[in-house]
Amino acid sequence: MTIKRPRGTNDFLPGETVRWQDLENKLHRLCRQYGFEEIRTPIFEETELFARGVGNTSDIVQKEMYVFQDMGGRSLALRPEGTASVARAYLENKMQALNQPVKLYYLGPMFRSERPQAGRYHQFHQFGLEIFGSNSYLADAEVICFAWDFYTSLGLNELDLHLNSVGCPKCRPLYRQSLQEFLAPQKEQLCTTCRERFERNPLRILDCKSPICRELSVGAPVMLDQVCPECEEHFRKVRNTIDEAGIPYILDDRLVRGLDYYTKTAFEIQIKGIGAQSAVCGGGRYDGLIEEFGGPAIPGVGFALGLERIFLALESQGIGFEKEPQLDIFIATMGEAACGKAFTLAQELRQKNLSVQQDLLGKSLKSQLKSADKQGARFVIIIGEDELQSGLYQVRDMAESFQELVPDEDLLSFFCDKLGK
Ligand code: AMP
Repeated sequence: MTIKRPRGTNDFLPGETVRWQDLENKLHRLCRQYGFEEIRTPIFEETELFARGVGNTSDIVQKEMYVFQDMGGRSLALRPEGTASVARAYLENKMQALNQPVKLYYLGPMFRSERPQAGRYHQFHQFGLEIFGSNSYLADAEVICFAWDFYTSLGLNELDLHLNSVGCPKCRPLYRQSLQEFLAPQKEQLCTTCRERFERNPLRILDCKSPICRELSVGAPVMLDQVCPECEEHFRKVRNTIDEAGIPYILDDRLVRGLDYYTKTAFEIQIKGIGAQSAVCGGGRYDGLIEEFGGPAIPGVGFALGLERIFLALESQGIGFEKEPQLDIFIATMGEAACGKAFTLAQELRQKNLSVQQDLLGKSLKSQLKSADKQGARFVIIIGEDELQSGLYQVRDMAESFQELVPDEDLLSFFCDKLGK
């Protein structure tokens, strides 16, 4: 019986991994421009971290986490998202003692056991960033601009930025109450999940996808009408800054986050044309998270984006990638002695930053030349008995269909000249 990869996971093959590297490099570059530094945290953490950081009442913690016990009986979980780990690492490594704000980013696999479908996997990849230590509206705006900048720099269109404020521990309880009062008469008609949410997490009823819950919540009170003056002022400034940056957005009163430590700004970017899973990133402010983890009251704001969905969006919008860099030199050999010479020569040429390959299968000269062509080699060096004796090598320029003899001692300078490295 052959073993296949687990459901909801992907193998990314060489043609695809170059595109991943390209996308990742773009993210690393943009982070440098915005002043974010990379942090790498473990793939698994204590389960309790996510129970607290993502929330016990969330779908992620209740239904979607991969939880296991280690040999010592400790409960561990594969990370379903990145913010909880980064907040833990910030506190554990006393980053509050550093110059604030601390701007961090991460990139890597996440794990959720949701029902797989296009754009939804058990193992997927997220890029995310967090700013700790600033409660300024500018930090919210910077995070939103980063996300927008990134998608637009890829040439993506049909982007919708949804924006809302979820208030703060001062104003949200009142809103929560008015929402419950509004929904109470229809409580029994809500879907099973939302009936459970009614007490614990009523705001989440607003973003339930069930048509019945959608219908029942039409006309529900709107958070933005009830935010306190501080939250209102903060949101007004975030919107002004985004307006000035020329980024269009949709005010979306259904965009909510159910947990107490989420505060003020919430945002999501959606892309049309990639199916039901149209959210490509989500984020917002979480001023209560570090305190939730037992730390001081340090504000935070951030977002996470899924990389797989970017590829779906690029494909659906017909956006290609820059072509893979071609092979500089292929060394074709005839005979054992030539192979040895080719091996040393390849090492020397690689030291000059050139990409070089030689035959590893003992193929005929004709098939070696075919391989070189398939790999897009710019030059082929041919080494056989005669060349070894004379010290003169045939160098074929594949683009120009041109051949010349180059003395052994001139080979390095010849290629450095030709290939400009
Ligand atoms: P979230 O942490 O749920 O706000 O997700 C942030 C982003 O990660 C989403 O907007 C998606 O782009 C991506 N994402 C979340 N869950 C999955 C999944 N199961 N498969 C693929 N991408 C996902």
